[in-house]
Amino acid sequence: MKVKELMSKLEFKYSNEKEYLQAVREVLESIEETYNSHPEFEKARIIERIVEPDRVFTFKVPWQDDRGEIHINTGYRVQFNNALGPYKGGLRFHPSVTLSTLKFLGFEQTFKNALTTLPMGGAKGGSDFNPKGKSDAEVMRFCQAFMTELWRYIGPDTDVPAGDIGVGSREIGYLYGWYKKLARENTGVLTGKGINWGGSLIRPEATGFGGVYFVRHMLNKINSDLSGKTVAISGFGNVAWGAALKATELGAKVIAISGPDGYIYDKAGLNEEKLNFMLYLRATCNDVVSPYAEEFPEAVFVKAKKPWELKCDIALPCAIQNELDGQDAKQLIENGVTCIAEISNMGCTPEAVNMFIDNKILYAPGKAVNAGGVSVSGLEMTQNAMKLNWSAEEVDTKLKTIMNNIHEACVKYGNRPDGYTDYVKGANIAGFMKVAQAVLEQGLC
Ligand code: GLU
Repeated sequence: MKVKELMSKLEFKYSNEKEYLQAVREVLESIEETYNSHPEFEKARIIERIVEPDRVFTFKVPWQDDRGEIHINTGYRVQFNNALGPYKGGLRFHPSVTLSTLKFLGFEQTFKNALTTLPMGGAKGGSDFNPKGKSDAEVMRFCQAFMTELWRYIGPDTDVPAGDIGVGSREIGYLYGWYKKLARENTGVLTGKGINWGGSLIRPEATGFGGVYFVRHMLNKINSDLSGKTVAISGFGNVAWGAALKATELGAKVIAISGPDGYIYDKAGLNEEKLNFMLYLRATCNDVVSPYAEEFPEAVFVKAKKPWELKCDIALPCAIQNELDGQDAKQLIENGVTCIAEISNMGCTPEAVNMFIDNKILYAPGKAVNAGGVSVSGLEMTQNAMKLNWSAEEVDTKLKTIMNNIHEACVKYGNRPDGYTDYVKGANIAGFMKVAQAVLEQGLC
């Protein structure tokens, strides 16, 4: 395989799919050498088979708002690869959603799910619908219209969607209710369900908790830990909240969270009351973080800026793809950052990633760091299949083991002779090898 040749073919075919091409390039560049040492992969055209999704569904989603006006959105499900298990991955409802976004996310999900060691293939779906500012009734009508199309493509052993940006417990509830009505079955076809109707304990916290467990391993490897470290976080939703909660519990000081309107600098650090306020902010659905500074006057709201300009030990992007660019990386490095761990999917631009690696700063990509969310989704599927529930401690213990295994796999494939761990290479090779081997062993299908 020659990365250049394969990339130019993909660039020609999918010239307007920027995010998808970015994600593929990153993986190809880091696996090229390993891949080429396996002639059996090349012979079976494994890489060409893995970079293309198995299939993509696109559908119209018509729905009516509370004033009786009609809106049309586009819905998608990208079933990327099912070599390791049923297609698995979230649904994103956000105005920025395009096919390119969902193809990049489905591609990443395939390797992320492989890293978890659970039997899950990779998928992603969603819509350009924006749930922010919509009433519950509008969100319900949209979810029902979306599921009316989606339900025929999914199933507990076929494809199991979950949440992502804009799809939380409320949306999962409406989607699940409508699936049940159409399919006439009560199987755990979505994960992230309510605790009383098949959900798993720890699922809401899992992405953030898992991310911080991963950071703890990264720090331990350089004989350090979280205690007393300052942490800047972007976002203030579910993932950012879980990360802030666990980082605080483990002795770090979270000094920043952010929203689309700007960021909050809280020198004193978050505490229980402030963490609960994050939940309240999220529930109000206004998508702004500024009210935090009105509630807690010791905090400062910095309008239209990102938290990466702050001096901090650890930076945790928890919002959206490409939210931390080269300029931000330069600023963080100048301010002496020790560790950057992406809890959002592809949170850093390639330029930023290269700067961290060139400067030998601890950096780990989303597909390793944020795998805790889908891991607990996998555990939810297991509990549904067994028709019983595990305690929070049981789930958390399993999550810790999974994050430890992912970290070990990254170190195994990413350790360099100078002692620096290239987590990008490590995560990509570890995930890719599992998928590639499975595709090869299952023949041409
Ligand atoms: N959307 C989450 C992710 O990016 C979770 C997916 C899932 O639970 O299936 O991994």
